[in-house]
Amino acid sequence: MASATQAGIIFCGVLIFLAGCASQPTTTPPPPAETISEPETPVTSSLNWTNPAAVKPFAPQPSRPVVPVVTIVFSNKVPVAVSNPTPVAMWTSLKGWAAAHKIGSPHRLPGLPVTSYAIGSKNGVMILEIGSREATWNGIEINLGFAPELIDGEVSLDGIDLQRNLEPLLCAPPLAFGTNRIIVLDPGHGGSNVGTHSVLDGRFEKEFTLDWAKRIKPLLETNGWTVFLTRTRDVYVTNLDRVVFAEAHHADLFVSLHFNSAAPDTKQAGLETYCITPTGMPSTLTRGYEDNWSENLPNNAFDAQNLQLALKLHSALLRAVGMEDRGVRRARFIGVLRGQNRPAILIEAGYLSNPAEARLIESPEYRQKLAEAVAEALR
Ligand SMILES: [Zn+2]
Repeated sequence: MASATQAGIIFCGVLIFLAGCASQPTTTPPPPAETISEPETPVTSSLNWTNPAAVKPFAPQPSRPVVPVVTIVFSNKVPVAVSNPTPVAMWTSLKGWAAAHKIGSPHRLPGLPVTSYAIGSKNGVMILEIGSREATWNGIEINLGFAPELIDGEVSLDGIDLQRNLEPLLCAPPLAFGTNRIIVLDPGHGGSNVGTHSVLDGRFEKEFTLDWAKRIKPLLETNGWTVFLTRTRDVYVTNLDRVVFAEAHHADLFVSLHFNSAAPDTKQAGLETYCITPTGMPSTLTRGYEDNWSENLPNNAFDAQNLQLALKLHSALLRAVGMEDRGVRRARFIGVLRGQNRPAILIEAGYLSNPAEARLIESPEYRQKLAEAVAEALR
């Protein structure tokens, strides 16, 4: 992001009038294909997670496709359709939205090459750039569905961004964890699905993801979590089985653990955290898969918590190891997230194709630091 550093500096210095929120009704080059679990056909077909007949569009709008008014969610493991509370408005003045939500008006940030605005609440500060989908939340890179525009001199956002990006961060209560909570950790790959490999010595991603998960487990258990791993040894597990495992264990959260690759590029580095793209919004990463904006997945019922969880873990990992921030991103094709009936994210904690990061990832001490960061974020 061109101005991420500047935005971070501005974030630290900017003075915002903070106020509580009104209560609310409830193209970067893609990494190589083996690093993120792609959807397997059964994920969308065998459990009947999408029901086109149940999807009724409201009036089409000019700049994005029709958004369904029906969401498919699970109730006692049975998919059911519920109505979305309200249709999503198109371009909306940020100032007007802020006033309606009883938070301070956006402030123009002087001295930046791109016209930028800061908007804050007691939860934190978001910085938006006119014409860019990239934004920051408390200094962490996030990705909007649509670039903000100046309309009649006022910074304006698409309604889906206000509802799915700004509201959960500026207005919703921060994510909190009660006692007796259950988490499923998902060490990526396994068995014949080796994942990517280290540029240094060819060791496989599947080995490092499993070790990372095993290091997180006791730390979380100390903090009162009940922890299950989708695999505890080097075995092949389908994406669907990982989702079914989380359902069978009544998981409150699902976190999939991966390491990245940009081979043959050895320079690319940093941390990426993914959640499912909200309905009506284009994805940050599509990797050649169809990106159907009107698709309504079970996990879309958790859009707000997904974003909050992703930011919580992403910022804790950045703080712990100082990796480059490649942002919290959205993708639709990730097989282990699509059918989840709980907040669910996927972390790509550095590049095994980058010699410096591969050396770190191969170090048990470093993986322990990554594990401690995850546990700290979920305290
Ligand atoms: Zn992977």
